[in-house]
Amino acid sequence: MSLSFDPETISLPVGHFIGGELISAAGAIEMHRPSDGKSYAACPVAGVDMVNRAVESAKAALKASNWGGIRPRERTKALQAWADLIEAEAETLASIEALCSTRPVGQLVAGDIAVTAEQIRFFAEFADKEGSELVPTDDASFGMIMSEPYGVVGAITPWNFPISMAGWKLGPALAAGNAVVLKPSEMTPFSAIYLAQLAVRASLPAGLINVVLGDGPTTGTALTGHPEIAKVSFTGSTRAGSAIMENVARNGVKPMTLELGGKSPQLVFADADLDKAAAAIAGSVTFNAGQACVAGTRLIVEKSIADRLTVAIAERMKTVRPGPTWDQATQYSPIISERQRARVDSIVQAAVAAGGECVTGGGAMEAPGYFYEPTLIANVDQANPAIVEEIFGPILTVQTFETEEEALALSCHPTYGLASGLFTTDLSRTIRLARKLEAGTVWVNRYSRSRDHILPTGGYKRSGIGKDLGREAYLANRRTKSVLISL
Ligand code: NAD
Repeated sequence: MSLSFDPETISLPVGHFIGGELISAAGAIEMHRPSDGKSYAACPVAGVDMVNRAVESAKAALKASNWGGIRPRERTKALQAWADLIEAEAETLASIEALCSTRPVGQLVAGDIAVTAEQIRFFAEFADKEGSELVPTDDASFGMIMSEPYGVVGAITPWNFPISMAGWKLGPALAAGNAVVLKPSEMTPFSAIYLAQLAVRASLPAGLINVVLGDGPTTGTALTGHPEIAKVSFTGSTRAGSAIMENVARNGVKPMTLELGGKSPQLVFADADLDKAAAAIAGSVTFNAGQACVAGTRLIVEKSIADRLTVAIAERMKTVRPGPTWDQATQYSPIISERQRARVDSIVQAAVAAGGECVTGGGAMEAPGYFYEPTLIANVDQANPAIVEEIFGPILTVQTFETEEEALALSCHPTYGLASGLFTTDLSRTIRLARKLEAGTVWVNRYSRSRDHILPTGGYKRSGIGKDLGREAYLANRRTKSVLISL
């Protein structure tokens, strides 16, 4: 079975998806394919009226279907049917995603899409297993912590893993009994529409998932400030997360889950398996061309092995195979846009101007589209722009240490605390550092997520508030009420 496809033959669901229907709308933001730079569509921008309509549709669907009040197992079964259909339609979904985004089609069906279906099933299983609890009281009383859905959740997602990010928001919110108005990134909006269409085809109530397209300042602001959005679930940059907090505060008060940026360190000690470390570290900054919130972009390595490890990583970084995202053989992604590639390059050039030395890479690739060379920069201090900024590109810096304290000090970023990697075979050191690293995730002798969806993901410091995945993500979509009855 070949997954490669002709990009000119793909039809895209352009419009907003409200009440189970695709509402066509004029495109306002021109879109270019990251793989070859060709203009291929325009993203509509929903204003206040369209956002109001989506919220009304969500409220009406909740009321008509009693989604939050039906037997929880019915929600489980409906979501499982949706997950099954996502798998059955994986190739169509993959072609939409690969056309618009940086995700190569060969990584989507068994990767992003299969994992998303699995995660929806994972959250669906919580529906009838987490709920109200009785609490100990005296004989004259009956006490209960009642658990309830919020109502309509507003979700906003970034462009880097469009299907996965939509799944992280929709799965727990729906399983917990809410309806959702989702605003995907204006750079990669169409796979979310198709996901919502599949939900209706799988018999989820029409209007339970509404998708409004548009940019942050117009559509995002209208959504997060809407008085009937009871909870906001956001993934994106720390800058936009702050703007959302301000907008929510200006318009009222509501709970928020914010999954934000990162600048994650990878600490390698001399006792580590260096081949394994080199593969994991190179993989973490070349996967999706480093456009991952958790990309391990700062290598912090014990001095005695620094040269050996740096050479091994650089060799691996040079072996990437760029190509169009619609070609099954492609493994290395383009950068999302011309503008973002120019930003990546400007930070690399600033890093070099500040004394950094490119061990490999350092410029745009000579290929159609927005590809950038995997780049390894040495000779950087803590003030170097490549250490300070979240670059969101295939850029790895290298710094060395002689003591564990030095390694910890270098690992600490003033702004971010999303993830970290630790490569060592010393168990005591593993536990000691896992406790001390200021990050929401510590990967040891690996640098990637697993399919253990029970592990919550989210940041310390300005990398975010709250968690996606895990039990925590489900519970974040429920609120509790204390009930005390005098008998
Ligand atoms: P972005 O913040 O520019 O945009 C993300 C989404 O927010 C988009 O849908 C955008 O339209 C919307 N948005 C922007 N400004 C807004 C506003 N004022 N109000 C409401 N919505 C607004 O981020 P991006 O460039 O799409 O994605 C890259 C960023 O996302 C990186 O910083 C990355 O680290 C982060 N990210 C974090 C995680 C995580 O789990 N922590 C996962 C993926 C990406």
